[in-house]
Amino acid sequence: MKRRQFIGRLGNTSLFILAGGISTFNTKKITTTEEFLFIEAEGFADMGGWSLDQQSMEQMGSPYLLAHGLGISVDDAVTKVEFPSDGTYRVWVRTRDWVAPWKAPGAPGKFQLLIENKALDETFGTKSAVWHWHDGGTVKVNKKATVALHDLTGFEGRCEAILFCKDIDFEPTNDLEALSKFRRKLLKLPNKPDDGGEYDLIVAGGGLAGTCAAISAARNGIKVALVQDRPVLGGNGSSEVRVWPEGHTNKEPYPHIGDIVNEILPPIQKSQGQVLNGVASSYYYDALKLKIVKDEPNIRLLLDHRVIEVETDGDIIEALIIQNTRTARQKRLKGTFFTDCTGDANIGYKAGADYEYKAQNLMGSTNLFNVLDASNMEEVLACECKDKGALAMKCEIGEVEQPFPPCPWALDLSDKSFPGRKGVKTFGREGLEAFANMWYWESGFNKD
Ligand SMILES: Cc1cc2nc3c(=O)[nH]c(=O)nc-3n(C[C@H](O)[C@H](O)[C@H](O)COP(=O)(O)OP(=O)(O)OC[C@H]3O[C@@H](n4cnc5c(N)ncnc54)[C@H](O)[C@@H]3O)c2cc1C
Repeated sequence: MKRRQFIGRLGNTSLFILAGGISTFNTKKITTTEEFLFIEAEGFADMGGWSLDQQSMEQMGSPYLLAHGLGISVDDAVTKVEFPSDGTYRVWVRTRDWVAPWKAPGAPGKFQLLIENKALDETFGTKSAVWHWHDGGTVKVNKKATVALHDLTGFEGRCEAILFCKDIDFEPTNDLEALSKFRRKLLKLPNKPDDGGEYDLIVAGGGLAGTCAAISAARNGIKVALVQDRPVLGGNGSSEVRVWPEGHTNKEPYPHIGDIVNEILPPIQKSQGQVLNGVASSYYYDALKLKIVKDEPNIRLLLDHRVIEVETDGDIIEALIIQNTRTARQKRLKGTFFTDCTGDANIGYKAGADYEYKAQNLMGSTNLFNVLDASNMEEVLACECKDKGALAMKCEIGEVEQPFPPCPWALDLSDKSFPGRKGVKTFGREGLEAFANMWYWESGFNKD
């Protein structure tokens, strides 16, 4: 039997037809919130070893949890839930097979759903290149239960949400707009964003640029909101990414440019004159950055909030709509001035500003991939950046042999030549050869 392709009605609000081209609105059965349990993966009480990824929440309607374990299964994400009533439910899990876009075998991101420690028969992360609701079959539950995401591979399994439906013929929508309404209704979230206040300056993005901008503005006496979509400040320069900042700061004629960076991220120890990227998380002083910002009375800090929408009047930005990455609750922040410190011009783009995005030879001295013609040796060898250590990588030889799992989904780049840099010796090798096996491995050339 084909399942009904509709969402039905929740309370008084009509929700519409699901994706799939069905054009009649079936109102025979009214579905109420009492018949569903909607669990946001990012709302799990204990995320275990799963990481919250918020970077594509506008595109896919929500953050999701990612099992990033470098081939070793991560610990279970666990939460306690209460069903509307005990009984039988159909389970749906919103996920995808992330290697399906290039039709690779293996489905690396496999995971299970455990209810009261018992796995459903279905394995998730095994179907479809796009995010979709994967049918997990039916399950009998008591009113209260413990639900867990159990990673099977450690290779980027991903789960956005879990839906339990009393009506086992019900099929949730994959249409983003309809899903968003459905989600907000079931989570009992208001239709409109809360009033988040009014500010002289709103800083979007709490990397080093945004954090320093907010501190500087606040110390100059204006009222600032700092919106950061991670639980820590610093962006690439935080313990989460571990890139060490190396700006040409404190130089004449502006000797004080860089003072705030030095205050929030004291100069790192250097080894043989080299900056130590990727060192222990304590070197990135997340707690210090947080303390300095929290001590500024003029800053309202909104961690775990992502700007998802920009409101404009003509060419002028008036407000930002932000969403909590754990609870999906939204706020509207009104401002006079705005600064886009998202690291990728996210706010400007959303505001409709002109932009240019193109591959163009060398994109900067620390760029990972030189977009040039690798078969043109003249061009390749001319690519000698001043920054000799730009492609730093840290390896240590271990004492115990480690297994490396087979990766049938990996792209085979072994027959490709990579652009290198002359005069740079890495592991005793130089030029193209030296770079053949390094960061480019994961870059997928210019496709990533
Ligand atoms: C692999 C790599 C290696 C590098 N190596 C070095 C190096 O060795 N030395 C060096 O000096 N520089 C290095 N850089 C460059 C350096 O990391 C950047 O110049 C610097 O991080 C830029 O800081 P930022 O604050 O502008 O952006 P980011 O550090 O990117 O911070 C932006 C923050 O905004 C948040 N954000 C994004 N969108 C939103 C939104 N919509 N709402 C709310 N928050 C949002 C992001 O999560 C992020 O935390 C490297 C960069 C990369 C990628």
